[in-house]
Amino acid sequence: MALGGMNTPAAFTGTEVYQRSFNPGEYLRAFYTLSNSQGQPNTFLMQNLRSLWKMFSLEGLRGETLIDVGCGPTIYQLLSACEHFQEIIALDYTDQNRRELEKWLKKEAGAFNWRPVVEYVCELEGDKEKWAEKEEKLRQKVRQVLKCDVTKANPTDPVSLPPADCVVSTLCLEAACKDLATFRSALRNVGTLLKPGGHLVMVTVLRETYYAFNNMVFSCLHLEKNVVEEAVEGAGFDVMFSEVQPCLLGDGSADCEAVLSLVARRRAPISG
Ligand code: SAH
Repeated sequence: MALGGMNTPAAFTGTEVYQRSFNPGEYLRAFYTLSNSQGQPNTFLMQNLRSLWKMFSLEGLRGETLIDVGCGPTIYQLLSACEHFQEIIALDYTDQNRRELEKWLKKEAGAFNWRPVVEYVCELEGDKEKWAEKEEKLRQKVRQVLKCDVTKANPTDPVSLPPADCVVSTLCLEAACKDLATFRSALRNVGTLLKPGGHLVMVTVLRETYYAFNNMVFSCLHLEKNVVEEAVEGAGFDVMFSEVQPCLLGDGSADCEAVLSLVARRRAPISG
């Protein structure tokens, strides 16, 4: 797929495109090294790690089980989370992304080196030396890596998971949803994975239309802060925390303008 002209919105890239063309190794090299080939710090990643650390430090964000929705091939979104939950289930549509994650979990040859990222989070949490301990803790807590589709009423169909205490989702729904109606219903679908009173932790890019790596362009649903908050509220949550930070990707690898970090609590269903 070729890069469109500056004003041409990228055509929606759905699950078949992810399954056919998403290269997890290239994605990790493009977005998840702490500094780029010119030695410039990856401020996008560092900022998101800080936000996740802050959100998972909020009161009440603890419990038995956590589900990561649209995990991709990454673990950074679980590094602070794993300190507060006992069991983690990671979900993603794309086979090769789940496989890439499993490579790291099983310490297979060729797995991505997350150590600098893990050290960065350990430093935020107060002790950089604890990186190996955290890696082991996370490996031990991730119990299952399963296929999911957030556009399905039961995203893990045909599997039914017991509702979790927390759901984390980073950079997934804006990639997975072709329009706002789909985004709203995907939030409702994701809500079914949570216990009433459970927490949703989201990191979402704002005003992005595409991201690109390895000569591939993936579409992104253009979102504004208030639109995301209203969709989250409309899907049966109360927003507890919401913070926008500028997006710092100056290299053309994406056109996002800001990142929204949000925590919401699932309301009890209204009984009739
Ligand atoms: N959470 C990771 C990956 C984000 S990339 C991170 O923070 O970097 C977007 C991810 O959404 C990809 O892994 C892709 O496989 C997944 N995805 C796309 N459409 C999906 C769908 N309908 N259901 C579930 N996951 C989907």
